[in-house]
Amino acid sequence: MKHYDVVVIGAGNGGLTAAAATQRGGKTTLLLERHNIPGGCATSFVRGNFEFEVALHQLSGLGTESQPFVMRDIFNSLGVMDKVEFIQERDLYRLAVPGELDITLPASWKGLQKTLQEHFPEEEQAIVQFMDICEKVTLEGFLTLPKAKRSNNPEVLNDECAHFVKYGFRSALDVLSELFSNKKLITLISSYWNYVGVPPSQMLFSDLASMLYSYAVFKPWHIKGGSQSLSNALVESFIEAGGDVRFNCGAEKILTEAGGVTGVQLETGERVTCNAVISNASPLVTFNELLDHDQLPIKVQQDFKSRRMGTSAFVIYLGLDCTPEELGITAPSSFISSTLDWEAVSDRMEAFDSPLGGMITCYNLDDPDAAPPGKSQVALVCLQYGDVWQTVAPEEYVKTKYAFAEKLIDLIEQVYPKVRHFIEEIEVATPLTMMRYLNTPGGAIYGFKQTPEDSNLIRERLEGVNGLYSVGSWTSMGGFQPTYMAGESTARAVLKKLNQMEAQHV
Ligand SMILES: Cc1cc2nc3c(=O)[nH]c(=O)nc-3n(C[C@H](O)[C@H](O)[C@H](O)COP(=O)(O)OP(=O)(O)OC[C@H]3O[C@@H](n4cnc5c(N)ncnc54)[C@H](O)[C@@H]3O)c2cc1C
Repeated sequence: MKHYDVVVIGAGNGGLTAAAATQRGGKTTLLLERHNIPGGCATSFVRGNFEFEVALHQLSGLGTESQPFVMRDIFNSLGVMDKVEFIQERDLYRLAVPGELDITLPASWKGLQKTLQEHFPEEEQAIVQFMDICEKVTLEGFLTLPKAKRSNNPEVLNDECAHFVKYGFRSALDVLSELFSNKKLITLISSYWNYVGVPPSQMLFSDLASMLYSYAVFKPWHIKGGSQSLSNALVESFIEAGGDVRFNCGAEKILTEAGGVTGVQLETGERVTCNAVISNASPLVTFNELLDHDQLPIKVQQDFKSRRMGTSAFVIYLGLDCTPEELGITAPSSFISSTLDWEAVSDRMEAFDSPLGGMITCYNLDDPDAAPPGKSQVALVCLQYGDVWQTVAPEEYVKTKYAFAEKLIDLIEQVYPKVRHFIEEIEVATPLTMMRYLNTPGGAIYGFKQTPEDSNLIRERLEGVNGLYSVGSWTSMGGFQPTYMAGESTARAVLKKLNQMEAQHV
């Protein structure tokens, strides 16, 4: 039986980063992936003349060459920075609520303040205060909170993370309503709730603050060739360092003995032994399906009882026979809503009723190579929970999917009226598509529901089986940056543990 130091289950962002880091850190690593390509959400697919980006709307955390941020270091250390070209987006987003507001926010911290003050002069001072709070909450969250958490001492927390303690753990709506009286301004600056999956009343203020700050200061990015290029680069770097990867090869069982992992059984029936398993599959799959039932730690069982499933998404991938200008697209990312009330938009996420809010991303506005000349690559998205889709009878699925797609296009056409007119290619993904490709319960794309009372800030790691680590959107926040970071930090923990074990055996 072949032996590896580490087996990584799943080649999503978390698994890829972890595998590349453990192999490059000197530990023999096997990477297993059910699908025939790497990336999980971070993939692309081809239809006609278009290669469609599956998931990445805006990559955060990279920073510019003159002002680098955490992802640049991670990608450098994994040897992929030179293999991939990143495309900077010029705007944060446009929010269009027909008849109410239509504002584009620039990807610049100073520019953001200026734009907000121009549109909402009566809130001038509150905007300055808000931006100061966002900056401090974000910097404390990155720089001092991890140390304060480790100290387990409330005094250290209060001294070193005063703004985080005062604002960070509250809901975004709570803090914004305290600072601002203009409802349109609150709606405008809380649009990024769509990237977390819970409306402003249920979203941590610290999540909103750090997203706004990080995207505005360190810029939003696309990737040339789509996020698939980065996933491919991570696999290449992993293989160059000597790693073994198996596609079309799911893990079937995590093997244990005396409360610790001993190996993995592949779906081919083969077995390999190992000292550590890093699972990028959802913890529900990892603990309920891959482990023998009697191995499920009580702590994890109890944790699962209080978890709620995060949202999935409904996506229409469109290849349009027109330029972005012909369609009227002025910003790569737009949020579109028929109401100022994000809570009402969120309430529709569990039903087939017409969506009240959605997003549209145009990839070739900032990167002409993202579509053939004269054409456009566009994704229309609205968040949807998987439950309602799981009630659809198989023979009704196609009809239901296209009927819902019509409703989402109706919404987007309130702002970009000629979408239907220009369609050359169309592919539609529902939460059932996400379930199939990601193997996540309900097709969840951001992991568990991230509410103030259930955020990863206050949750403990899902542990209880020696040598078994979970990585990805379920153990951190969902999204590209958090899952890459989780992969890297988990790999560091695994390397440290394995090096300690080796030192003890010398
Ligand atoms: C439509 C859409 C839009 C999004 N937009 C953004 C955005 O703009 N910005 C952003 O930051 N985030 C966005 N996200 C979210 C982000 O893509 C995800 O949160 C993140 O990529 C999840 O990474 P992960 O590491 O959890 O792995 P996943 O992507 O969930 O991948 C897990 C992998 O594990 C594999 N696997 C599962 N079980 C097994 C098994 N038993 N054996 C082997 N392999 C297994 C799966 O096949 C899959 O490849 C979006 C997601 C979607 C779907």
